[in-house]
Amino acid sequence: MAADTPVRVRFAPSPTGRLHIGGLRTALYNYLFARKHEGDFVLRIEDTDQARYVPGAEEDIREALSWVGLDYDEGPAQGGNYAPYRQSERTAHYRENAEKLIDAGRAYYAFDTEEELQEMREKHGAYDISTRGQMRNSLTLPDAEVERLLEAGTEYVVRLKVPREETVRFDDVIRGGVSFDTSEIDDQVLLKSDGMPTYHLANIVDDHLMDISHVIRGEEWLSSTPKHVLMYDALGWTPPTFAHLPLILSPEGGKLSKRDANRLGIPVYVTDYREAGYEPEALLNFLALLGWSPGTEEELFALDEMVKAFSLDRVGASGVQFDLDKLRWVNEHYVRDLSVDELAEKARPFVEAEGYKVGDDRLRTICELVQDRIQVVPEVATDNRYFYEDPDAYEEAGVEKRWNEESADLLLAYTERLEEVDNFDTDTVETELRDLADEKGVGAGAIIHPSRLAVSGRSYGPGVFGLLAAVGKDACIRRMHRAVEVLG
Ligand code: GLU
Repeated sequence: MAADTPVRVRFAPSPTGRLHIGGLRTALYNYLFARKHEGDFVLRIEDTDQARYVPGAEEDIREALSWVGLDYDEGPAQGGNYAPYRQSERTAHYRENAEKLIDAGRAYYAFDTEEELQEMREKHGAYDISTRGQMRNSLTLPDAEVERLLEAGTEYVVRLKVPREETVRFDDVIRGGVSFDTSEIDDQVLLKSDGMPTYHLANIVDDHLMDISHVIRGEEWLSSTPKHVLMYDALGWTPPTFAHLPLILSPEGGKLSKRDANRLGIPVYVTDYREAGYEPEALLNFLALLGWSPGTEEELFALDEMVKAFSLDRVGASGVQFDLDKLRWVNEHYVRDLSVDELAEKARPFVEAEGYKVGDDRLRTICELVQDRIQVVPEVATDNRYFYEDPDAYEEAGVEKRWNEESADLLLAYTERLEEVDNFDTDTVETELRDLADEKGVGAGAIIHPSRLAVSGRSYGPGVFGLLAAVGKDACIRRMHRAVEVLG
């Protein structure tokens, strides 16, 4: 790749399901690289595998990218100079190049039936340099027979003819020089019997035709790359620069499988993160650090800051463990940065989903109280239920520590004062409490702690006077009476 070649990168998902978190990381790194180098970022849908095609997956992928704000310059919906961007609409290109490979003697027709293949696999394993000589293909059959079979419409696939005893070498920005011995590479099917290309053929043809300068993708594709390099060579094309991103590992080590993720409560799909109420900016920030390191202590980056700081040189080669606590920590900072109005607006659907009804002003008040105490927006509801419903239990350790013989009397005396209050706001409930404490000759804490326990069921939480005011007069008095009944 010449130094002055314009940067063009692509995110090339297969629409085989919803976009998962690893896919989003790949998209993000491509985006960062493109923006950093003022290049183009392309979305290409690799939908040639009809058996694995999932309707709606492309829409999900596009929506997920739009939710996190990764915009691309060319893609199936908006088009671009290299359209179309859906491989199923580009099949002529693949067929044409498969033929070129055959003509160059770098690929061949194979006519083996399913049974023959089955038998071969059982006996020998792979269809490769060592076994292809025993199979029914254009390397072993006389030309006239090949001709006859093709004319008769016999089903065939086109396979890559992997050269004998060679080493395929390529450079990877992240891994340095990589080499594979051709004896490890099978004669990959390039064109299937239904006339559709496999991933390998379509991928390299499009990367070439779309002038892709850098292929940035997950490590799971590293072992496919020597096949691609062989095809580039056979077609007389210069391969793009490769960068294979490190694997995302489970917190327990080992590749993070969907099963492990489910077991460990790690959301797999981008939509799951959205539904769980994560901030899209936080998710991107977190994913950026899952493989890339800025080389400073800094960990919080807005997207434009990541663009500035990003470089492939600072992406590591070894797997990185997924750490949900880290994501929550990052998310917490983005929640802190929201205005109260924004937080309330984001929180409303989650509050309603819990079945709670609350007016705008009150929700804003609640948000103000809890904003510094939550990590994700839904916790406005799920971590603070006492704002919406009476507690059904009292935290045991809190009762142990904060509730004593005089608590019941003090609380009852406090409720008597609160009954008389017309303007039930933070200042008033505080004044009433402090006056009562003075009158009884006790510290304010002797009333504050039992009040908190009674009203929220907990011994910790936002400032108690704000809490009481937000819960409201009737509910506070009711809850205090109830606590006295239950706790004695
Ligand atoms: N379609 C492949 C995928 O689903 C693309 C891999 C690549 O970027 O080459 O991930």
